[in-house]
Amino acid sequence: MKHKQVLISVSIMVIATMLVLVYAWMHPAEATIIISIYIITVIFMLLISGISNAIYYKNNPTIDIMEFSDITETLNTEILLWTNDCSAVFMNKKLRDELGIESLDFDNQEMIKKVFDIQNTNAKTIDMLINGQLGESHVTNEYNEEMYIAWSTSLIKKTKKASLYMSTGFNFTELKKTQRELEKSHQRHNLSMELSEIGVILSRNDKTFQISSEFMRMLGYDKPIISFGELKMLIHPNDRNAYASYISANYNSESCTSEITNLELQIKSYDNAYHWYSMRLKTVPSNENNGQTIIGGAIIDITSEREKDMMIERLAFTDEVTDIANRNKLVKIGQENYNCCKELGYSYWVMVLDIDKFHIINDTCGYSNGNKVLKAFASNLYKYISLGGFSARISGDNFAIITRDYGDDELPRKTAEQIQRDFQKLAVDEFSLQSLSCSVGYSRMPADGANFMEVLEHAEFALKCSDGSRNSICAYESHMHDEIIDNSELEKSLSDAIDNNELKLFYQPKIDLQTGAIIGVEALIRWIKPDGTVISPNVFVPIAEKSHLIARISEFVLQEGCRQNVMWQKLGYPEIVMSINFTSDDFYQKNLKENIFEALVISGLDAEWLEVELTERLALHDVDYAVSQMNQIRELGVKLAMDDFGTGYSSLSYIQILPITLLKLDRSFIVDIETDPIAFEIVNAVIRIAKSKKIETIAEGIENPNQAKILRELGCNFGQGYLYGKPMPPEQLEEFFKQNMKERKVY
Ligand code: C2E
Ligand code: MG
Ligand code: MG
Repeated sequence: MKHKQVLISVSIMVIATMLVLVYAWMHPAEATIIISIYIITVIFMLLISGISNAIYYKNNPTIDIMEFSDITETLNTEILLWTNDCSAVFMNKKLRDELGIESLDFDNQEMIKKVFDIQNTNAKTIDMLINGQLGESHVTNEYNEEMYIAWSTSLIKKTKKASLYMSTGFNFTELKKTQRELEKSHQRHNLSMELSEIGVILSRNDKTFQISSEFMRMLGYDKPIISFGELKMLIHPNDRNAYASYISANYNSESCTSEITNLELQIKSYDNAYHWYSMRLKTVPSNENNGQTIIGGAIIDITSEREKDMMIERLAFTDEVTDIANRNKLVKIGQENYNCCKELGYSYWVMVLDIDKFHIINDTCGYSNGNKVLKAFASNLYKYISLGGFSARISGDNFAIITRDYGDDELPRKTAEQIQRDFQKLAVDEFSLQSLSCSVGYSRMPADGANFMEVLEHAEFALKCSDGSRNSICAYESHMHDEIIDNSELEKSLSDAIDNNELKLFYQPKIDLQTGAIIGVEALIRWIKPDGTVISPNVFVPIAEKSHLIARISEFVLQEGCRQNVMWQKLGYPEIVMSINFTSDDFYQKNLKENIFEALVISGLDAEWLEVELTERLALHDVDYAVSQMNQIRELGVKLAMDDFGTGYSSLSYIQILPITLLKLDRSFIVDIETDPIAFEIVNAVIRIAKSKKIETIAEGIENPNQAKILRELGCNFGQGYLYGKPMPPEQLEEFFKQNMKERKVY
């Protein structure tokens, strides 16, 4: 408007000046006066105009929009300058070009309505514009194109009459188009997905997913929107971490990856059961929403494929009998854990467990009951596994546990003891057996091996190195290798020794405490090497037991003992009882009765001159079966002695149920009998109870006459010990016979 006025004023001035100059040229005499008058008049008029303008602007201050137009004209963003009374409006070149407006000569009110996409320009609407409530406009420009502009408005000048605002625009037409295309393509995508039974999720900026109707059907979910958290809670706890990690890594564009990620998750589904789903996820950065991203995913139910895979995995990695993992699986998981140890500095314990004398359970209770014991043992193991731990059956009666090591060196021992206690309880509660036990060897990972297999082998080494007794627990130590080599060498040479007749029986006399007469001998085995070295049975019998060489040894002892006794009888020595020692393998063998009978027949020994010594631990392994085996021996007429009585954990009440004929008081009571009143009382009580049951008693390890005297006075029937004679070879025993026939000592 102002431009027009200026233009008219300037034009009038130019015309007036021209007229004055023409008049002056035509009247040269008056020219000076006329031009002077004209100049004075112009100056006067300019003065009047200036003063009146000053007075006007002083009384009616208004806004000169032009002072800002120059600055904003060339800016590369859409700018609209406008006064709240619509008296002045200016749009910069960028905005004019986009709207297709060539001239600034337009209707202010209409232009404001158009640009801001508003119905009217009343005070309320203007307020809303200023407050940003009408921030987005949808405009159709002069070329009939749709435009979307987001406006941000700020006050730049205020007078009494009006306020001048500057609105800065952001043209998001392209974005809007892309979004529309995306929506369209998603709709098409959804449609095709639904037809192909693929669920779809698409994140929104409020931490929710829009989910396709197919995915809703899969989940049995009735809303098309599900929050990140709600979906997480439907995912199986084992798989939640994978999902949560993906979301947190991809929610913001800084850390998001544009690669396709495939997650296999179990999600609680329409039937309230977990189904396996393959979730292919992709994240794209979005220009909107403060750096948030768009996460999209296609989801397929893979339960049936997974079940097939699991079936295959099951067959390859599960132990059929116990239903827990097998050795293959243990090795796989173990190596993964080993790698973890190396990468993350973790440490694990690897424990190998062996059920003691399991073959006896199989022999005595039957194969199917043996399997039940294995199952029960296996299903208990999970209790001892800490987070990330693992258990498996690695062979026959051998199991393994991997459990985290949090720095407590005693943990494997404590765990092993707990397993042993629970196993014993299981024996009584569920299998009506007197006892079940297991031995444990353990090693530490990664310290005890260069890989998992080595660590496992070392735990197995430790198990082999245990003392061979029930419920033994043994930690791996590097020097064990030497011992194992020694043991396996020993095993080999023991086998050769049997072949080369290096095993000999020594005999230790048993004396009647009342008369001093020899009433029997105990056959005690010795290994005499060709160089004359004598190896104690305490050294090689346990090795023989582990390697099953014991069967050959026991057969030799039984036959040789019988043969020797018959020989002495034939030589005219007094008839005596030959005692032989049995291990649990010997005792629990199925054809025990037949084997003893055969030895008696072959040797021609009368059964009453043979006695079998059993330890109480051995007999109490399974009392019912032990009693039936004992009865078989007794049926032959062979005597039965309970060896080492008092060292096990039996109670005196067992004396009443076991069909024994002799009770051998352990040497440990005899050693203390003179000095320890408790030992004295125990021996006294045992002798009395045995007597009442018509069971004879013998004291082992009598070394001095006083011990013999006390025992005789307490009513003990027989004695055995160095006082009378050490275990000796047969020739020496013959001398003893002769001596004993001549002179008998009673202490
Ligand atoms: P055991 O059956 O309790 O045999 C008694 C052990 O005590 C024998 O040791 C014997 O020499 C020792 N002994 C006897 N009197 C005394 C004494 O007054 N003082 C001391 N300090 N010791 C005495 P040995 O012969 O070394 O046998 C040890 C164990 O080896 C036996 O204990 C038995 O369990 C086992 N054993 C020995 N021979 C055989 C065998 O032929 N077959 C089986 N299965 N085991 C055997
Ligand atoms: Mg014995
Ligand atoms: Mg003994």
